[in-house]
Amino acid sequence: NLKIGVVGLPNVGKSTFFNAITNSAAAAENYPFCTIGVYDPEESRVAVPDARFDWLCKHYKPAKEIPAYLTVIDIAGLVKGAASGAGLGNAFLSHVKAVDAIYHVIRAFDEPDVIHVEGELDPLRDVEIIREELRLKDEEFLQKQVAERERDVKRLGNGGNAADKSKKEEYEIINKVYKWVAEDKKDVRHGVWTNKEVDVINTMHLITAKPVIYLANLSEKDYRRKKNKWLPKIKAWVDENTPGDLMIPFSVAFEYGLSLQSPEEKEETLKEAGVPSMLPKIIVAGYSALQLVYYFTGGPDEVRAWTIRKNTKAPQAAGVIHTDFERGFIMAEIMKYDDLKEAGTDAAVKAAGKYMQKGKEYVVDDGDIIYFKFNV
Ligand code: GDP
Repeated sequence: NLKIGVVGLPNVGKSTFFNAITNSAAAAENYPFCTIGVYDPEESRVAVPDARFDWLCKHYKPAKEIPAYLTVIDIAGLVKGAASGAGLGNAFLSHVKAVDAIYHVIRAFDEPDVIHVEGELDPLRDVEIIREELRLKDEEFLQKQVAERERDVKRLGNGGNAADKSKKEEYEIINKVYKWVAEDKKDVRHGVWTNKEVDVINTMHLITAKPVIYLANLSEKDYRRKKNKWLPKIKAWVDENTPGDLMIPFSVAFEYGLSLQSPEEKEETLKEAGVPSMLPKIIVAGYSALQLVYYFTGGPDEVRAWTIRKNTKAPQAAGVIHTDFERGFIMAEIMKYDDLKEAGTDAAVKAAGKYMQKGKEYVVDDGDIIYFKFNV
């Protein structure tokens, strides 16, 4: 169960964003058969919006509809100096270590009534503060790893057996990652690493290796008029400092207001405002950042999205439904969503020769509609 954490300085709108997400998930009354919503005050499971899923539900009119979910975690409490133990900073940083991706909320709304922990509004300073705390946490962790391994490796001396060589290689990789973080002051995810290096990096759960989506929180007014003086600067900062990472402008206040409205009121508000809610885009981006995709199963009983990692082969994908499906896997019968939509019915897809039978080497595509055949 992969998770995305919400981080940022205090008073930037994290909790309100989290509540907006939670409310809109709880209000998703189109999914009455599954428990959605809050399991834990800081954890929320939200349905991933998908037009294909909605279409399949209309098409099959199933008794049950189960979409894919993203688990969002509110991680409050990061402040300047967190990595060196200011406040409960270090404890909060361990929570960041436990998530798989990060929403980094940046405050770009000016509101005299909402105190800024660092004084004047300055989104660039803020984003640097948080990024630096996250980097420092990795630096500290890597430093310990290097020191521990250094002792071992020195004791081994030159030569040695395969196990010794592998220890040395691991030490060198960790040292290289340490230098990247501590000396070049860069985030691990922006490095170019070999497969072997990636394997070692993956064992360490480094914070700066996790995918980040920057969320620029504008005032409702700025969001509605699509203008904010900080936005171009934030965009430029992201492009320069964390190239390739996504930055999504939105307004927490606007989203929160929407999340409290009925579907009809919401439609009215959006029509009047002439701007969309950004929550669907934010949720989909979070899901993709986790390298997750899903395939569908469909029929009169149930339409369901099954989450798998990208590049999963058919038997392992079947294993997500039931281990027996993987063990007894015979084949996967697959329709492409576009083919089904075009042909109109399962039978028409078959008649058009587009119903495929795939074996155990088939890599499942996002959005495949699958019927598995297996031995019991
Ligand atoms: P957190 O400390 O980052 O979790 O921040 P909160 O979500 O608790 O928000 C801090 C304060 O800022 C609250 O009073 C919110 O109502 C307010 N706030 C959050 N987002 C916005 C926004 O987009 N515009 C305005 N004007 N106020 C906001």
